[in-house]
Amino acid sequence: MASTDTHKVAILTSPQEPNAKPTFSVQNLPRPVPGPNELLIRLSVTSLCGSDLGMALGHMGPVGNILGHEGVGKIAALGSNVASLDPTVEIGQRVGVAWLRDICGVCPFCVDIANEGETRCAEALHSGKEAYPGTFAEYTIVPLRYLARIPPAFDGVPDEEVAPILCGGVTAYKAIKGCRLTPGQWLVVSGAAGGVGALAVAFAHAMGYRVIAVDAGATKEAYCKSQGAEHYVDVTSGEDAGKQVRELTGGKGAKAVVITATAAAAYQKAFDMLGPFGTLMCISILPEEAKVIFHPLWMIDNGWTVKGSSVGTRADILEALEFVKRRVVIPKVKWGTLEEVEGLMDKMSKGQLESKYVLKL
Ligand SMILES: [Zn+2]
Ligand SMILES: [Zn+2]
Repeated sequence: MASTDTHKVAILTSPQEPNAKPTFSVQNLPRPVPGPNELLIRLSVTSLCGSDLGMALGHMGPVGNILGHEGVGKIAALGSNVASLDPTVEIGQRVGVAWLRDICGVCPFCVDIANEGETRCAEALHSGKEAYPGTFAEYTIVPLRYLARIPPAFDGVPDEEVAPILCGGVTAYKAIKGCRLTPGQWLVVSGAAGGVGALAVAFAHAMGYRVIAVDAGATKEAYCKSQGAEHYVDVTSGEDAGKQVRELTGGKGAKAVVITATAAAAYQKAFDMLGPFGTLMCISILPEEAKVIFHPLWMIDNGWTVKGSSVGTRADILEALEFVKRRVVIPKVKWGTLEEVEGLMDKMSKGQLESKYVLKL
């Protein structure tokens, strides 16, 4: 039995290499102690994100051995300076623990307020990557400076529906917002049945866009349509996916293609789906050696834009949660435990993980 000074964590035990099979060991470790400007959070849930797998496989460079960055919990203890720095922070308040744990506030990204540059902070600290262990744990530490509060207005949204929004959901929402479409325009989500993809379909539909879901396999059609897709394109059908998108849009092509699929081929194919002045929005992370090729004339002739989106700010998280609160986006989740992380990651690596998994802590 665990003593009160320890907590349960899932430790990544496999080497962070592309061909490794991620393995985990659930252990009781000493509970972290907050520094003067930090808070101790008792996490209640954490959900599994595609980039947890990417990190386990070394795609995002060296990381720590406690992954996870979609945690929801309550403040359990305050560092010694916290009460004087911010008297509104109290034990018991609900917070999210997302990918960004801290930002510097002074680098060229942070000070670019108009571009909401903070999510690209050059000195940012990330969950599980630098100083702060991730959320596959009962307790974790967050700095006061970048506290992601979930205000009482969202008390009606349960933890398991908040967690998927903290990374996957806000990433999807911010990327779609960044395409700057007009309601009624066509938007393609490539990798639409994945964790971020399904949320992208749901947000895009809720935001008034007409959604074409693209993924591999006929069995994913029903799921994508249940999330709000008007059409489904199966890239394994043998018919050209670009041609199908152009036909479904009455020959116009899509105004934006949001890529959540982790395959270079998905990025390459997206050019065939774009209509005039279309935006190719990059979200999914590929292995370092992956390349996507374009000819400059494609951009010159078509007025295309290629851009990327990186998670979202704390304000974006709350904007995205408004959709959940209004029940126009409802994250579909399944429950798991820390002990099941290894098995779930294995399924994820084989593309067999349908729906979002939330681990009860
Ligand atoms: Zn910064
Ligand atoms: Zn993530």
